[in-house]
Amino acid sequence: MAFKVKFWGVRGSIACPSPRHIGFGGNTSCVEVAAGGERIILDAGTGIRNLGEWFLKKNTPHATLLLSHTHWDHINGFPFFTPAFMPDRSFTVMAGHVGDDGGVRKVLSGQMAQPFFPVPLEAMRGALTFEDFEAGDSFSIGDRVRVRTTPLNHPNGATGYRIEHGGKAMCYITDTEHVPGKPDENILALIEGADLVIYDATYTEEEFPNKIGWGHSTWEEGVRLCQAANVRMLAIFHHDPTHDDATMEGIERAAHQRWRRAIVARENMRINLL
Ligand SMILES: [Zn+2]
Ligand SMILES: [Zn+2]
Repeated sequence: MAFKVKFWGVRGSIACPSPRHIGFGGNTSCVEVAAGGERIILDAGTGIRNLGEWFLKKNTPHATLLLSHTHWDHINGFPFFTPAFMPDRSFTVMAGHVGDDGGVRKVLSGQMAQPFFPVPLEAMRGALTFEDFEAGDSFSIGDRVRVRTTPLNHPNGATGYRIEHGGKAMCYITDTEHVPGKPDENILALIEGADLVIYDATYTEEEFPNKIGWGHSTWEEGVRLCQAANVRMLAIFHHDPTHDDATMEGIERAAHQRWRRAIVARENMRINLL
């Protein structure tokens, strides 16, 4: 059965729709994975709105939403995810970092509470199930998809995912900050031998020294980790909004030169693993 990945939002921090960002896309984090007959959504940034339209068109009845964490750029699209308002749809929403903060339902409901938003979570008429786990846990989605997780180094916590099906594996590692010269052992173990790793490369190595403590990494560190862990392909992700298309093209060239298996994620890009 198929194992496909599609990028619906590739930005970090805040959406940046502008003529200078149209090439790589301005929507924030949202990646769709279709594997083993399951639909999985990684993060609910502004990119999930277009994914929702697509789900309506295709009559997709169910999906599992895995959240890396609940900073705005990863959940702001959720109130605009139209299928969740429809009674004939069902969604499972999972997160691994807010079990001690009242759980993922409470956190998502908080962003839809007045005076932040006029429509409460209860208005979503779909069958929504909220599940909290602890980053580091493993679980299955349906009979054919296996998920492993690990905690990431990010303010307020974040979860990295490894999704396996049919002998293939893809990983979603955002948002996380590395310690220069000290590869993250949790990440290395999670991504070992993966076919695709989507990695938080908000900054370049040149920018990084001024951003220590902000919770993000670089494409150069992504290359180092993927090479050390025998990964087949790196997708540079969570682009900084200040990086316009010209900057991103420069990063793409430099990354490809450093490692020909590194690509830069763009909105609407698809990668088929099976
Ligand atoms: Zn982010
Ligand atoms: Zn974050």
